[in-house]
Amino acid sequence: MRHDVKTYGNFIASKWQDATDGEFIDVRDPSNGAIFARIARGTADDIDLAVRSARSALSGEWGQMTATERGRVLNRISAAVLRNIDLLTELEARDVGKPLTQARADVVALARYLEFYGGAADKVHGDTIPYQNGFTVLTVYEPHGVTGHIIPWNYPMQILGRSLGAALAMGNAAVVKPAEEACLTILEFARIAQEEGLPSGALNIVTGYGAEAGAALSGHPDINHISFTGSVRTGEMVQAAAAKNAVPVTLELGGKSAQIVFADADLDRAVPFLVNAGIQNAGQTCSASSRILVERAIYEKVVALMSERYRALKVGPAGNDLSVGPVVSQRQKAIIEGFLADAEKDGLKVAAQGEIVADAPADGAYVAPTLLRDVPHEHRTVQEEIFGPVQVIMPFDSEADAIRLANGTAYGLVCGVWTNDGGRQMRLARAVEAGQVFINNYGAGGGVELPFGGVKKSGHGREKGFEALYGFASMKTISVYHG
Ligand code: NAD
Repeated sequence: MRHDVKTYGNFIASKWQDATDGEFIDVRDPSNGAIFARIARGTADDIDLAVRSARSALSGEWGQMTATERGRVLNRISAAVLRNIDLLTELEARDVGKPLTQARADVVALARYLEFYGGAADKVHGDTIPYQNGFTVLTVYEPHGVTGHIIPWNYPMQILGRSLGAALAMGNAAVVKPAEEACLTILEFARIAQEEGLPSGALNIVTGYGAEAGAALSGHPDINHISFTGSVRTGEMVQAAAAKNAVPVTLELGGKSAQIVFADADLDRAVPFLVNAGIQNAGQTCSASSRILVERAIYEKVVALMSERYRALKVGPAGNDLSVGPVVSQRQKAIIEGFLADAEKDGLKVAAQGEIVADAPADGAYVAPTLLRDVPHEHRTVQEEIFGPVQVIMPFDSEADAIRLANGTAYGLVCGVWTNDGGRQMRLARAVEAGQVFINNYGAGGGVELPFGGVKKSGHGREKGFEALYGFASMKTISVYHG
């Protein structure tokens, strides 16, 4: 049954083209395992064509545009994304396995990124610097040139929006390498952007495997900046490849983010955040809160309240729009089940699980959300990113103990703190090792306006917010001697 399988090529210099060696990769729907599309298996030659296309855009129509004109193009694309919301929602749900509500929220976020960066495009400016008599010194921000963007499969549209939006606003021309597991909405986006007048070469997309197209992009000698979002292991390889060309890199990597709940917290408000930040997108969120640390006095109460919510979670096909969809692939399912098998082997206690609905197709990649309790801090379910709907919950005895546990992994992406004690809020906010701290709230990746990124193994550099614009530009200092 291949008659409804749609084929997508690479998007280079505003043209759709097959990979240079004509190979394709099948795309599966994780809700039922069916192949429903195929994408080009891009090669190093395709990456080279895309980089050339981007380079020539910088001296063509795109490079001639003023910042205001670039902003207007981004705003037009933003509006067109929203006009295509139904198409993009259904495609993302099918490609990633996202429940429809989540997929729709991702389309809205993509549009919002473009709106935000469209509005910001002509508001980045340099300074004049007091210097010696007879001099005027000023700084200007200039685009890096050709930027490479390597995107993971968990939030294709959101991560494209935040990285590409900022890069284009600053006047760069981009080559995007989306993830082989899920990239169809990024390809539809290219069509929309072209229809709305994005000049040729400003955006080029090469699909394919990481070790082929991804490695070729990160090591390409004519790339001027790489923005990578994905796993730590791959991020380290990308940075090493870029280092050979002395190219700057932004790394948005994984996390093992904690929420810390003190005995005075407002649990009515906290508990929905504790659970949702763990199971949103089936736990496949870099900023997922996979660790819950609770002050001992209320530990049993929080375990009970979270367990009640877990038992109400229903898992099923993306189109059914339940609380949790399938994970992205059978491969990802096997990784998560490996963690759960280790938990069982090591005698960990399951506090509660959600339920896979009876009519979920047998070939779908379904995993029951699982809350593990009293887990030793050294266990791999506490230390390693599972990237699935699994949370661990443990008690702590003091503020110092909470900080020690929260900081006790290799990661440092996000942290949530629940307390009404103002002094403690600020002490914790300063003491935890994370790029974002949420006090009495928790945004699993949310907040277009908020600078985002990690410390430690979670990466370096910031995307999102106004801050990202500076990452996609290089500052030039101009010193004028006029006597
Ligand atoms: P991954 O590292 O396997 O793949 C990410 C991207 O890198 C894909 O496009 C892939 O094709 C490409 N790639 C793979 N090997 C490559 C190579 N050798 N050279 C260049 N590119 C290569 O990650 P994944 O499994 O797709 O995504 C999940 C990971 O991403 C998790 O660790 C998650 O925490 C992280 N993530 C981080 C953020 C963030 O903003 N910090 C956001 C989303 C996901």
